[in-house]
Amino acid sequence: MNAEYEAVIGLEIHVQLSTKTKMFCGCELSFGDDPNVHTCPVCLALPGVLPVPNEQAVRYALQIGAALGCELSPVSTFDRKNYFYPDNPKAYQITQAANPFAVNGQLGEVRIHHAHLEEDAAKTIHTGGGGRISGSDASLVDFNRGGTPLVEIVTEPDLRSGAQVREWGQLLRATIKQLGVSDVNMEEGSLRCDANISVRPAGSETLGTKTELKNMNSFRFIERGIEAEIARQMEIVSAGGQVVQETLHFDPGTGELHSLRSKEEAHDYRYLPEPDLVPVVPTQAMFDAAKNSLPELPAARAARYKELGVSEQAALLLSFETDWAGYFEGVMAADASIDPRVAANWVTGEFAAELRKQDDQPLTEAKVTPAGLATLISLVADRKISHGAGKTVLEEMVASGAEPVTVVAEKGLEQISDSGELEKIVIQAIEDNPKPAEQIRAGNEKAIGALVGAVMKATQGRADGGEVNRLLRQHLGI
Ligand code: ADP
Ligand code: ZN
Ligand code: MG
Repeated sequence: MNAEYEAVIGLEIHVQLSTKTKMFCGCELSFGDDPNVHTCPVCLALPGVLPVPNEQAVRYALQIGAALGCELSPVSTFDRKNYFYPDNPKAYQITQAANPFAVNGQLGEVRIHHAHLEEDAAKTIHTGGGGRISGSDASLVDFNRGGTPLVEIVTEPDLRSGAQVREWGQLLRATIKQLGVSDVNMEEGSLRCDANISVRPAGSETLGTKTELKNMNSFRFIERGIEAEIARQMEIVSAGGQVVQETLHFDPGTGELHSLRSKEEAHDYRYLPEPDLVPVVPTQAMFDAAKNSLPELPAARAARYKELGVSEQAALLLSFETDWAGYFEGVMAADASIDPRVAANWVTGEFAAELRKQDDQPLTEAKVTPAGLATLISLVADRKISHGAGKTVLEEMVASGAEPVTVVAEKGLEQISDSGELEKIVIQAIEDNPKPAEQIRAGNEKAIGALVGAVMKATQGRADGGEVNRLLRQHLGI
């Protein structure tokens, strides 16, 4: 990257709220149904209808505002944002412009300018000839999505790179997921992120001309799109040119940026106060509920796990994925004597890998209970079975849901702890492998690996590695 210039990025994130019904009518919210089955006169904008705000949406919004450390507005108001497009049947969108419900927050290193409530547009489907209307190019509109409650979160331009946007975006997503107010599924569009990007001389306080990168369905793509756009802008300004304000689309397939619209076509939204809705004035009880119902958020949880001794990597993994955190907590709850660091490594390491290996099983459908995994971890920690045998047991547990003790017994995997029995096997291994034994005696200690391997083979991995080493050294006289 060009050292003389720095990138400046601000985000606008749309979060679909997972309420039962839409923002201003009683239509059900659901993804993937037949087109236009969840519609009514309100969300189709038939003449004479009036919107009624969804109280649950207001409550969810307040929770998001509280989780982002925002000041929650005692009074917020709705405005009409006028634009003419087929996905918007009223020809205006109800949003909050002048008085949003939450302002001045902060999540991690990024300040939140504000968050506002609005309704989602319907979904336009371009058939491109081969579509539902055969042989023709058509644009179809599915109004099921129209009127879905959205919270738009607008950050200050505090981000500086694509990687930082990805990391912060993942923290934001985990935080909202934790609240349980949205599915935050980027592929299904329940979380959408637009990035505003500019460059300026490093150290400058003024903002350069920005472009806007629209709607990508993963934070990896957003990272790549932002990096491509930063490179493009730096090249322009380094050559003495000027960035043109425009809206861009990034194609992750080709890595190319395309212009969607330029400033000349930029909208004039002619905002005006929504006359059909009274201001939102939440009760003190609603504010209290939003603040008091906050669960432990990912940033705080990661810190707590690290304090328990969990490795940095495992702590981040666990705190960004609520299901995994819940599972880890379940393991810890099942057996208080387990070392949290060891438990976290089993959960995020061997166990996660085994689920992936066996048909990519989702955690929610895993046959292994947290208590079952806790038992397995204890068996290994207490040296009842070796670590290698533990993996064999886990494989069977993931496949069949069997209890670890049963698998250990059936497969005869108990660690050989009787030194007498192990000693015989060690002596035999030295006899059977005279070459490495000779090398070790001659000072090549590395050759001991071959003898350890021979003992493990003879015991089917059931021997305690430390004990094997000790006995080998004793009998080789080193
Ligand atoms: P607009 O009026 O174009 O909507 P706003 O001032 O409302 O712009 O900001 C929208 C988003 O763009 C915010 O996240 C803000 O932080 C970001 N932003 C504004 N100006 C710039 C800039 N010059 N460079 C990068 N991001 C910016
Ligand atoms: Zn409706
Ligand atoms: Mg704006």
